[in-house]
Amino acid sequence: MNSAEFAKRRTAAGFALLESKLDALLVTGLPNVRYLTGFTGSNAAVLLQPDGEFILFTDPRYTIQAAQETGGRVVICRKQLMTGIAAQAARRGWHRLGIEAQRMGFDTFEFLKSKLPPRVELQSTRGIVETLRMRKSPGELELIRASVRTNSRAFDAALRAIRPGRMTEADLACEIDYRMRRLGAEKPAFDTIVACGEHAALPHAHPGRRKLGSNELLLIDMGATQEGYASDMTRVVSLGKAPARARRVYEAVLEAQKAAIDAVRPGVTAGSVDRAARKVLRRAGLDKAFVHSTGHGLGLEIHEPPRLGRADKTRLEEGMAITIEPGVYLEGKLGVRIEDTVAVTRTGCEILTSTPKDYLEL
Ligand code: ZN
Ligand code: ZN
Repeated sequence: MNSAEFAKRRTAAGFALLESKLDALLVTGLPNVRYLTGFTGSNAAVLLQPDGEFILFTDPRYTIQAAQETGGRVVICRKQLMTGIAAQAARRGWHRLGIEAQRMGFDTFEFLKSKLPPRVELQSTRGIVETLRMRKSPGELELIRASVRTNSRAFDAALRAIRPGRMTEADLACEIDYRMRRLGAEKPAFDTIVACGEHAALPHAHPGRRKLGSNELLLIDMGATQEGYASDMTRVVSLGKAPARARRVYEAVLEAQKAAIDAVRPGVTAGSVDRAARKVLRRAGLDKAFVHSTGHGLGLEIHEPPRLGRADKTRLEEGMAITIEPGVYLEGKLGVRIEDTVAVTRTGCEILTSTPKDYLEL
């Protein structure tokens, strides 16, 4: 990402501040800080002005890194960041300072308020930077593509390492994480899910000491974070011959997933993509067992807007990166979810995940 792209993002965010009549926005969400400035440290906040000018606040551990990564004005705070931020706001004669309501703890809010002169009003804002982040630049899409590729390669390597009867879910999750990092990821984008048999009926199962059995389904949900960008994929494979019913559920979920992908194009609502998946599962009598939304945006975070849920009215736009992941969960029996990462294009979408999804028996 070059400095021109960061400047462009700040200009766009600054424009939103003008509309909200804010003198400045205090950005405390770390992914938003990274998006606007390139800074990757774990303690930082940014004061962004409507003209796109910014000041980054961080602590002495990041003196060198902040200068290298942002090439902008950096204030190193020896005490709490909010003390330095309040001093800045006081000096500049601001009246309306926006805060990211979803990105600031109550304690920090109270502390900041106590340090500000009475004339400065804190205005809560929601999703100013997150809204901009929904549409990815070509450079960002390249990074997501690379993350998706690493994730698929790690999956392939992990599949070859599967030893039913001798390996536990936790062993396989460990193998996946290791492969991912060997192939270039910084870390898994979330806790890797490995669940077999009836355990997969928990959509967010924790891999445990259960041994991978035979003649049952195995669900793997994994994602890499590479150069800060997330990927996300779920695959279900059959270890030996799973019951005929498992296969039927699998085919229904696959059909639902394809229908949802077919529904993705600019201008449609996120909710309509969700309904496309649900419609297929209703025909198969499985819609009540589909207990979550069809997908989510991803990028610097694993879960970003839009949410592809029933009621979501966000219109899809070219450049959005989203997941499509319907699932069916039958308590005490099995769980099937099939998930790809896709990018919305001018005319439809491109499936970034290349891992095959036809029913696979190992
Ligand atoms: Zn996933
Ligand atoms: Zn997902």
